[in-house]
Amino acid sequence: MSSRFVSIKAKFLLTYISLIAVVIVILNTYPVIISRDLVFISKENTIGSQTVQISTSLEALDRISPDTVSRVMNMLEISGLSSVVILNSDLDELYRVGRNAEGYEENIASELLDLAMRGRNEFRASFSDGAFKSYAIAPIMSNGMLNGYVCVYEYDEVQGGIIIGLQRDLIQISCGISILAVILSFIYSGTFTRRITNILDAIESVREGEYSYRIDVRGHDELAKLSAEFNSLTDRLQSTEEIRRRFVADASHELKTPLAAIRLLSDSILESDNIDIETVKDFVSDIRDETERLGRTTAQLLDLTKLDNNIVTVRSSVDCSKVAERVVRALKPIADEKNVDIVCKLKEDCCILATEDELYQIIFNLAENAIKYNVEGGEVTVEVAKDNDHVMIAVSDTGVGIPAQDLPYIFDRFYRVDKSRDREGGGSGLGLSIVKSTAEKHGGEVEAVRLDSGGMCFKVTFPILLFTNQVIK
Ligand code: ADP
Repeated sequence: MSSRFVSIKAKFLLTYISLIAVVIVILNTYPVIISRDLVFISKENTIGSQTVQISTSLEALDRISPDTVSRVMNMLEISGLSSVVILNSDLDELYRVGRNAEGYEENIASELLDLAMRGRNEFRASFSDGAFKSYAIAPIMSNGMLNGYVCVYEYDEVQGGIIIGLQRDLIQISCGISILAVILSFIYSGTFTRRITNILDAIESVREGEYSYRIDVRGHDELAKLSAEFNSLTDRLQSTEEIRRRFVADASHELKTPLAAIRLLSDSILESDNIDIETVKDFVSDIRDETERLGRTTAQLLDLTKLDNNIVTVRSSVDCSKVAERVVRALKPIADEKNVDIVCKLKEDCCILATEDELYQIIFNLAENAIKYNVEGGEVTVEVAKDNDHVMIAVSDTGVGIPAQDLPYIFDRFYRVDKSRDREGGGSGLGLSIVKSTAEKHGGEVEAVRLDSGGMCFKVTFPILLFTNQVIK
């Protein structure tokens, strides 16, 4: 993994440094080229026009000779040129001022002379060794005849020096900028890769099961956002993992208790030599109760697992009143056995989108609890009502009720208000959590309300279904 970081860092640096290199090359060449070209243009203007001025003045002469030429040249105010040479048409030198100083290139001069022989004014300039070298040539024409040539040469170190100075300054500035940029890019890429490494380390730790690992979020950029998102994801993972662990521990405890009881009861039968048949029957009946409890708990655990896995069910219109009626019919014998009166208040057309089996289970669990936790001669009311948007199913009782401090937890898995009493009564503490998960699966909400009379009222509210032929997965 670390090699991947290196390569990201290397790529990052390479890109950054290549960019800097390109910027430096442009910075060092472009301004120099532009300034040099500007000097060439200005030289062509000044030297070219001086050359033409000399040739025009000499064109006025009847005869071109060293004397006449020097007279004219003395009258002209020519300055700043390294050398001025006047040749006659046979290329004999008639006049010379200055010398063909440093950097003079014969080949350029003779090339220009060739062009001038065709009657053209010519100019050439070059920049080398820190100096501008300018050559200009102009033919001297009189009455349409080629009488001679004016050859001018200028060697300019001053402007050359300015260009060299500019180049040197630019190199110094760009070196400074590039050193700074390289240092900054090293710092930035180091920080960047370190932050990425932190995130990857965190992912690795969480993958290994260290769910409490959190990234230290700094700054307000995308990486900080990524770290914050990672932390909130890990928060959820941690709480899910805690719930899972607790569930597994509770579930195994719940299964262990009846199994231990079965083991104890069967050992008692096997190890007692003179056991009478009535005691054996009692023990076997206890074993049957425990296996029933085991069966109920495992069935409920399976239901919860299905709900947790969001197994898709085909939903259709379900009439809550009809389902409530079925539940009451099924529970009537148990209610009678406990001497609890069970009554219905059912409205028509209270349809919701769900599955009949799941709605049955919700109402059954609530009504069964209402009977189970009721008192001798008590009453259970199963009510189905509706308003414009909702169908409400309420199961109320006149039973023992639930203490206010237990109310926030009663929908938690395996939560029992009175642990010993409920276990004896066969309760697993899973019924209400199944009610809640099933109701939520179909867009419903569950609420537990303590009644002033001392009993409980459980209300489940679902969105009403107005068009009853709907079938949805
Ligand atoms: P159980 O299988 O133990 O009944 P539930 O999840 O259905 O599990 O209920 C959780 C706990 O809430 C029960 O153990 C019981 O103490 C309490 N409880 C549920 N319904 C009622 C009720 N109608 N009246 C009083 N207590 C209730």
